[in-house]
Parts: sequence; structure tokens; C-alpha cells
Amino acid sequence: MPLLPGTIDLHTHSTVSDGALTPTQLVAAAAAEGVITLALTDHDTLAGIAEARAAALEHDVRLIPGVEISVTWQRRTLHIVGLAVDCDNSALNAGLRQLQHTRHERARRMATKLEKLGMHDVLARVMALANGGQITRPHFARLMLEDGLCKNMQQCFKRYLKAGKPAHVSTEWATLEDAIGWIHAASGIAVLAHPHAYKMTAAWRRRMYAAFAAAGGDAAEVCCGTSTPDRVQTHAAQAATHGLMGSVGSDFHSHEQRWLKLGRVPTMPKGLAAVWEHPAFGTPV
Ligand code: AMP
Ligand code: MN
Ligand code: MN
Ligand code: MN
Repeated sequence: MPLLPGTIDLHTHSTVSDGALTPTQLVAAAAAEGVITLALTDHDTLAGIAEARAAALEHDVRLIPGVEISVTWQRRTLHIVGLAVDCDNSALNAGLRQLQHTRHERARRMATKLEKLGMHDVLARVMALANGGQITRPHFARLMLEDGLCKNMQQCFKRYLKAGKPAHVSTEWATLEDAIGWIHAASGIAVLAHPHAYKMTAAWRRRMYAAFAAAGGDAAEVCCGTSTPDRVQTHAAQAATHGLMGSVGSDFHSHEQRWLKLGRVPTMPKGLAAVWEHPAFGTPV
């Protein structure tokens, strides 16, 4: 189905997780960039959807309710985006509540670790920063920048927040099967987010695709904000091999990510079915 380039973005974040814009500001920014179909997909929460929906009405944007679910698979973290989910579904909401609890417990343990490294009052400060939304590692990074521990976000992750570094807390997120099950229970489409971004060998990547497809996954995010033409080809081929559809999403968090723009993603390669053709997506775009 022909789609004008730049008009669809199915992976974005707001202040209810680690994004810099409120849901209202995000929808306005997307509309200003010419995006007409937008999914809000915050980490482990649907809390921004109602506000985004209201803003979308104002701006003539079609808002697709979404969520980015944290998963632990083979001791690695994967992200599974749920698109066009029913926000009132009880199985999905119960699953997300469990992950929100896990996030809070992780934040508590990370705060203790950072206090041992000399920072003060970390849990209270990071909670104030998250302002009722989900606490994510980028929130801790912002505090570390405030305290002058690092000179940029990248350095915070590299020195403190990555696996194996002093402020890292290893976390058991949802299982792949549970995450996909919750999304399907909520009549949504399960998408393997930014498949090129996981640090793994080609053999592990094939296993990841196979496990995702075997667990009932529907699509892979073949066209991301950080995709190169090579990556698009590789992941389109992997998706096709496993009978998955393709999705598109910038993973926009903030205007500070100068290399990303809302809706700025490569076009879907010909021959790969697109998620917006999935019956659960609703009216064709
Ligand atoms: P969390 O789910 O709380 O562990 O946080 C993961 C989020 O941190 C991702 O969704 C990214 O937005 C961000 N992130 C991960 N790695 C990096 C990095 N190296 N530099 C900046 N942000 C990162
Ligand atoms: Mn994020
Ligand atoms: Mn992600
Ligand atoms: Mn994301």
C-alpha cells in the first residue's frame, strides 16, 4: 500500500517514561513534522495514551495506542512493541503493573549503588525527575550529569549504567511469551523493536528471530530511526524468513537526539508486508 514517506512513526516516547516531551508536546511535534499516523510506545506503561489521544484529535493525527515492553530472553534484554492495543485490557494492564513494580525495585537498588559511589538522596531525586512516570536509566543519567559525574549521556551508560558497570542492577523483566501474550490478549500487534540494536552475533540474532516467531510475534521493526540501508535489507530478509511483517519507528525520545526526527525512517522494502496492513491495525492508512 503506498504511503507517503515521513507520514508514519510507530515507535516514540514521552515524559511518562524516558522521553523529553509530554504526550501533548510529542503529538504537536509529530504533526509539525508531517506525521499523520503516530504510535506512542512508552516503556512498560500506557499512562500517556489518554493525553496523546486528546492532542491527536486537535492536530488531526491518527494515534495508535502502543507500549514498549521490557523482556528478558536468554539473559538478555529485548524490547517488544505492542501496537494498536486495547488500553483497557486486564491481562495487559496486570502485566504492565508487574513490570512497573520491577522498575521501581530496580530504581531503589540502583539508587543505593549510586549513593555508595558518592551521590546523595538519589531515589527521591530520581522519583522527582520521573514525576510519576516510569523511572528509567536515562533518568539516572540525567542526575549523574547534574552532579557532574559524567560529561554526557553516552559516558554515563558506558561508565556506570551498562551491564557489568557499577550502577547496573540485573533485572528479570517479562518473558517473551508473556509479553506477546499480553499484547495479543489486548488485540494488539507484537513487534520486535530495533532488532539491529541488540549486541549479539549473527547466530544469536537468528535464534532471537526464531524465538520471537515461535512465541507468536507478528512483526519486526525493519525500518528504524538508526537504520542503514544494509540493516534494512538484513532485517527485511530475516523478517521474511520467519513470516513476520515489517514495522517502522524512529524511537524518538528528544530533540536532543539530533540524528533522529519524528517520522524520519527508511521506507519499507518492497515485498515485505507492513504492520498497517494487519487487520488489528484497523482502518488502512
Ligand atoms: P531502561 O529500560 O530503564 O533500562 O532504559 C533503557 C533506555 O535507555 C533505552 O530505551 C534508551 O532510551 C536508553 N539507552 C540505552 N542505552 C543507552 C546509551 N548507551 N546511551 C543513551 N541512552 C541509552
Ligand atoms: Mn528509551
Ligand atoms: Mn527500546
Ligand atoms: Mn523505544
